[in-house]
Amino acid sequence: MIAEILSVGTELLMGQISNTDAQYLSRRLSELGVTLYRHTTVGDNPGRVKEALNEALSRADMVITTGGLGPTEDDLTKEMVGEFFGLPMELHAPSLEAIRTRMQRIGREMTQNNIKQAYFPHGAIVLPNLCGTAPGCIVESGRKAVAVLPGPPRELQDMFERQLAPYLAKRSGAKIASRFLRVFGVGESKVETLLQDLFHSDNPTLALYCGAGEVVARISARVRTDEDPQRLIAPLEEEIRKRLGEAVYAEGLKHPLAQTVLELLEARGETVAFSESLTGGKLAAAFVDCPGASRALNESYVTYSNEAKHRLLGVQNETLSRFGAVSAECAHEMALGTLRAAKADWAVSTTGIAGPDGGSAEKPVGLVYVGVAHGQQVWTEAFQFRGDREWVRTLACQNALNMLRLKILHAESSRNASSSAE
Ligand code: ATP
Ligand code: MG
Repeated sequence: MIAEILSVGTELLMGQISNTDAQYLSRRLSELGVTLYRHTTVGDNPGRVKEALNEALSRADMVITTGGLGPTEDDLTKEMVGEFFGLPMELHAPSLEAIRTRMQRIGREMTQNNIKQAYFPHGAIVLPNLCGTAPGCIVESGRKAVAVLPGPPRELQDMFERQLAPYLAKRSGAKIASRFLRVFGVGESKVETLLQDLFHSDNPTLALYCGAGEVVARISARVRTDEDPQRLIAPLEEEIRKRLGEAVYAEGLKHPLAQTVLELLEARGETVAFSESLTGGKLAAAFVDCPGASRALNESYVTYSNEAKHRLLGVQNETLSRFGAVSAECAHEMALGTLRAAKADWAVSTTGIAGPDGGSAEKPVGLVYVGVAHGQQVWTEAFQFRGDREWVRTLACQNALNMLRLKILHAESSRNASSSAE
């Protein structure tokens, strides 16, 4: 299907507003696999609207117009479409009722001009406006069709998503399906390099998004409505997983890292406890955000002062005075102490310098140590984050969760390896 966008509005030509409607539609059409050839903009002038419509329809199967659906004299897009196809304007009773109800609700009087908004070219498919007054419509004529959408972006977007997008999918006989792979621990440019050649494919397409310390890879496939998109998605997904390995922690548009960790712990019937200094409870909160957290979390500690680290977790005063609270040694003892105090299977500790003050040449702002303990084993890792206090604490939390995730995965694989060796 080939489409064109016809933007109607003198304000657009005078530079009073930017054409964000055309931008929105362009992006969504390309995602839906509709080929877009041109954007045209004309003022609120009947002759030029009709002329532009004529030209666009001589090239495209589908023309989408925006603007000029309002109640005033210069809002004439719908009327021009009717005239173009030689269709008389007819009253659409349900629209008149909807406009009347809306006017009552917002306490405005219904005028003759509002009644005009309930008239459509004969045979048009009416698109109710759930965010405003003026309904849109689709006029079909043989293989060609014109969709008439309102100008205000909120109204346009709502109408497009709810009504025009499904119509386009049906008319073009195609649909788009997407899968999201969530990646942690590998930066965006590294992911891009690792997947470089895979971006060339145009069906399925691959795109990257950036989140808090993570990258999301979106795979989108365009297929006929009766086809299974999985056929196109699965091979690309497999290739990405092969290249990124365990950095892929989940699949889905929304799936927090803490959820993955919870699922891993639940599958093993194990528990975790946290001792947090700079993250101040963020780790526990991220965990408790996930439904079912109680199955793997009994208790957790915020040990902000040295005294608390010593009293609750048994961090030795000598360690604190010799290496400082922000040290691998302290993270190590915090994790071990947490394991003991909470009688958990896993413990995670965080200690670091969130800033803006408190940094030194030796220990700059953003330096964070994370400790993970399990059984007799303790691992510590140093991170150097850049950003403000909130960002450093967010990254500390996310990276601590990821470190725990990887240790659980490795414990799993070494357990499997030793049991297969027996
Ligand atoms: P109304 O019922 O408000 O008159 P309408 O469908 O007649 O809506 P226009 O009169 O063309 O649309 O535009 C109304 C407002 O919508 C504009 O003032 C502008 O704020 C916004 N708008 C119109 N066209 C666009 C566009 N192409 N991109 C972004 N915003 C637009
Ligand atoms: Mg208007």
